[in-house]
Amino acid sequence: MTTRALFASSRGGAPTVSFGAAVLQGLAPDGGLYVPLSWPHLAPPDFDGVSELPAIAGRLLAPFMEGDPLARELAPLAAEALDFPAPLVPLAPDGRLSVLELFHGPTAAFKDFGARFLAGCFGCLRQGAERPLTILVATSGDTGGAVAAAFHQRPGVEVAVLFPKGLVSPTQERQLTCWGGNVRSVSVRGTFDDCQRLVKEAFRDAALATRTQLSSANSINLGRLLPQMVYYAAASLATWRAHRERASFIVPSGNLGNALACLWARRIGLPIGEVVLAHNANRTVPDFLASGEWRPRPSVATLASAMDVGDPSNMERLRALHAGIEELRAAVSAVSVSDDEIRARIVAGYRQFGQIWCPHTATAAEAWARLPPEARRERRWVLAATAHPAKFREIVEPLIGRTVPVPETLAKLFARPAQCVEIDADGRALRALLEQGK
Ligand SMILES: *Cc1c(COP(=O)(O)O)cnc(C)c1O
Repeated sequence: MTTRALFASSRGGAPTVSFGAAVLQGLAPDGGLYVPLSWPHLAPPDFDGVSELPAIAGRLLAPFMEGDPLARELAPLAAEALDFPAPLVPLAPDGRLSVLELFHGPTAAFKDFGARFLAGCFGCLRQGAERPLTILVATSGDTGGAVAAAFHQRPGVEVAVLFPKGLVSPTQERQLTCWGGNVRSVSVRGTFDDCQRLVKEAFRDAALATRTQLSSANSINLGRLLPQMVYYAAASLATWRAHRERASFIVPSGNLGNALACLWARRIGLPIGEVVLAHNANRTVPDFLASGEWRPRPSVATLASAMDVGDPSNMERLRALHAGIEELRAAVSAVSVSDDEIRARIVAGYRQFGQIWCPHTATAAEAWARLPPEARRERRWVLAATAHPAKFREIVEPLIGRTVPVPETLAKLFARPAQCVEIDADGRALRALLEQGK
């Protein structure tokens, strides 16, 4: 079977590859990120009669896998990975504001969609492989849990999850350290950016590469990014079918993987209007759109900790999609939300709508509240609710004055014993850990 090369590095210095190869590599060899060479076009009529996530995935993702051996596995992969709902819940009677609940998966965050699809891809790609594969993932909160859950107990795969010590919520930490078996939890004395740097360094480490087959499961991996388009497609199609209007999305953003999936879905032709990036106090992207100068900086810790990113790696993909600052400004807008505004918005959301929002979702709600009134009236806004509030109950409960019910899946994880190792934010420490095996 011929394998068609459909993806190129955002830096243009690496051979083009097909989907399966891009998934195995994670990062392109020139340090860039894989982006589609060309865009398929799919409009609402192409999805007639299709509304479930796996079926939408079948149509939406097939063009990206064309000619790749994984294409044959797309239907079962999608059915297995996307087996929980992403309900679109209207908040206002006029239907101008809805919440897209992305937190009904095993670890109660949107990252379950991508992580589970990616794990399925690796399962297919690695069948019959001799050396075990090590998945390295840096997490500022939810990635690690979702990836660990998706890969836990899969044969032939080891997982190392790096998280910044003391900078994730206690509830998140439990979820990062409750695995054992083929999953190692690594508490790094540093920030999320340090964790991400360690992962990037490990990939460039030629000596390590000869001993260990490394891959990534961060949002830089196409196997996570592409399936995230599916829920935006589903929500925008549902809105289109009901109202013949486009859905505009507000996406809580850190590394920009979730937002990029939305923008890619729009590029392909799904009925998506505006896209607003809601950032916390890490304002690298809002500042860039305002000033035109790209100035990555160290991350600062906020209540919406899964978005504490000062140098979002998917920015390379965003700039590959919209070259030039003017084009980018026309394509997206971005806001920065302070911790005080997050707190106030959690309180307001509970009072106004009876909604309990996690701090990340609250940034999107705050971005909506800041829109000009006519924009709120004229468009159909969808807030991406990226995590279940029970994951951040230390923050949420005192604000709304009640306990947050814990979903059954999370309760099961919390009951498991914690285990993790601690290292300095130093490439040698990570290498030693990876080489020592288990
Ligand atoms: C990861 C995460 C985000 C940020 O998503 P990106 O794809 O990194 O922009 C937002 N909210 C929650 C709950 C997350 O876990």
